[in-house]
Amino acid sequence: MNQVTIMGVPFIHTDQKSFISLLDNRIQLHEKTFVVTANPEVVMMANEDMAFMDLIHQATYITADGIGIVKAAQLLNKPLPGRVTGYDTMIGLLGKANEKQYKIFLLGAKKETLQMAENRIANDYPGIKIVGSHDGYFDWHNNDIAERIADVKPDITFVALGVPRQEKWISENLSGFDRGLFIGVGGSLDAIAG
Ligand code: UDP
Repeated sequence: MNQVTIMGVPFIHTDQKSFISLLDNRIQLHEKTFVVTANPEVVMMANEDMAFMDLIHQATYITADGIGIVKAAQLLNKPLPGRVTGYDTMIGLLGKANEKQYKIFLLGAKKETLQMAENRIANDYPGIKIVGSHDGYFDWHNNDIAERIADVKPDITFVALGVPRQEKWISENLSGFDRGLFIGVGGSLDAIAG
């Protein structure tokens, strides 16, 4: 994989469309995948907190979430093809999931927001099987969310807990899953809920 490293963070050299195809390919092969979409805030946080830096290095792919990273790559003479954001990646994946009837799980946001996002997805992407969801306000040390996900084996789990909680949640629970794509999508459920 071709990468561009900025302040210790290795970004995949790809554009939005190719990235979605790459992820779709891995979903079909049942390969476990962890995606971090990193904006300048994430890069700064990783440089201030080595534990967070180590954690995002566990990701299968880290993408350039926003024009700030693309500009920084240009200045360093290591150009990236373009931004690959959490929201656009989620929308691209929902498109593939609709075509191929993938199973998805939604984790995060407030209860009402999550419900609205779920309704919107069910309505706009009738091919998708929403196999479960949970709001993002749960007891971190006492919940059965990961067990539920391990049971229903979603093709894609969208984790919308904000940075760095979503990356932390994925990294802490990833070993309990034997397949599936896990991606932190920040405020995307709020955006989809409208
Ligand atoms: N969120 C959550 N649990 C929390 C904190 C945040 O589910 O404990 C959700 C929040 O409701 C929103 C999403 O995470 O849907 C993104 O939050 P925020 O805008 O703070 O994060 P960012 O987009 O800046 O990463």
